[in-house]
Amino acid sequence: MKLSRRELFATSSVALGTFSHAWAQTPAPAAPPPPQTSFDPLRGSVGIFTGRGGTIGMLVAPDGVVVVDTQFADTAAIALKNLKQMSPRTIDLLINTHHHGDHTSGNAVFRPAATKHVAHRNVPTLQKAQAAAAKSEAQQAFADTTYDTTWSEKVGAETVSLKYYGPGHTSGDSVITFQNANIVHMGDLMFYLRHPRVDRPSGASIKNWIVTLESVAKDHPADTIYIAGHSKVNLPVTVTRADVLKFRDYFSGLLAYVQKGIASGQSAQQIVKVAAVPGFADYEGNPEGTIQAAYDELTTKG
Ligand SMILES: [Zn+2]
Repeated sequence: MKLSRRELFATSSVALGTFSHAWAQTPAPAAPPPPQTSFDPLRGSVGIFTGRGGTIGMLVAPDGVVVVDTQFADTAAIALKNLKQMSPRTIDLLINTHHHGDHTSGNAVFRPAATKHVAHRNVPTLQKAQAAAAKSEAQQAFADTTYDTTWSEKVGAETVSLKYYGPGHTSGDSVITFQNANIVHMGDLMFYLRHPRVDRPSGASIKNWIVTLESVAKDHPADTIYIAGHSKVNLPVTVTRADVLKFRDYFSGLLAYVQKGIASGQSAQQIVKVAAVPGFADYEGNPEGTIQAAYDELTTKG
């Protein structure tokens, strides 16, 4: 075996001191760069914090502070620090749109700074199961105020309401409306131009997700700003009613494509092997997982 100069150097006991010196001068492995984060005001007193994971929504007014979703512990700490610079007020409401880790892993960072922690009633159970599987129970904070179909509270001049439209991305997704600001946080019920995760083990339903998107669009004014949980890279995380309805059409197209494959006798393996859901080539990512979920939903009895 031919040794490199450095290895030769290192194996020479005479040179060991010199080697150690040289080694000490080698720069330490670079720490990972701090996550890119930003806070962007949207309308009224509502804005968004983007970092790593699902979009955080924030109401920051002199008479009320609300935080929707918490990303991960590191970006949550940055978001909380930013928030405290904008307002010293205790957070009136901490809300989770659903239980997934990229929306709840910063809960423990925010919870001590908040008065109330709200989510749909299925969220704590789903979050506990997820944490048990990941052995991350010790890092969790769970919503202690839960609701069944609707929940609302006045926070200063704003009214914040939560509504459960039934199973969609999971079986615990809340649509959160800031009524005066006319802004809706969709959580992961809205993926903008990205193939969505359909969490069937957590009770997801594409068929009811379609109905939900339609209902949400009907329930809000034409000029509502919708906050998406995730967007295609470099695209905004705020979308319009037209985008919400395009996402509904994506799911309809997905189910039609899969149903056609099943009817023509194709296997799941054959159906998922497609570059894009027909008509939706602009969606980012690999569609296999989403198509498989559609196949499972259409072929599962009961
Ligand atoms: Zn999610």
